[in-house]
Formats: sequence, C-alpha cells, structure tokens
Amino acid sequence: MNRAYALNRDKLKCRVCGGWLIASTPWAHRVNPYLPLNQVNRVNNLVSLHKKCFYAVNNLDQDISEFDVKAQKKIKSLREKLVFSHTRNK
Ligand SMILES: [Zn+2]
Repeated sequence: MNRAYALNRDKLKCRVCGGWLIASTPWAHRVNPYLPLNQVNRVNNLVSLHKKCFYAVNNLDQDISEFDVKAQKKIKSLREKLVFSHTRNK
C-alpha cells in the first residue's frame, strides 16, 4: 500500500525526469534501504522513478550527461541522499 501511495503522491511522474510512468513499470527507489523494516517502505523513503532513471541514481559512476540539466540536478540530489553500506567502500 505504501508503494502505491508514494506513486500516487508523485502523480505517476518520474521524480528525476518528470516523465509519465504509465508506459513503463515504475521503480520504487528506496532513499535509504538500510532503515529498519518498519521504516524502509515508508512513503518518505520511496521515490517513483523510471528504471533508467533509477539506475542513473544508483550507479554513481554512470554518465548522466544524456539527461537534461534539471534531471541531472535531481539525480545528484538523490545520490547525495543515498546511504551506502560499508561493503561498497573500496
Ligand atoms: Zn525518469
């Protein structure tokens, strides 16, 4: 239910590029996947994105120059909010 609620809150538009999510299956991005289970799926922690935009947020090495400037800013701000596990630090 929370996932559906987050999508409804976002009015079925991608939070990164602003495109409609109707044509493709939206991905519920977890801003912080390491929260306790009872918090991780809270609406404040979920952002609906295209699969493509989801990967752009989560792959820090990905070149995002193909996105427009506005979308690039959103990607960067979502990346800043990401919380990584210690195992990802090389
Ligand atoms: Zn998108």
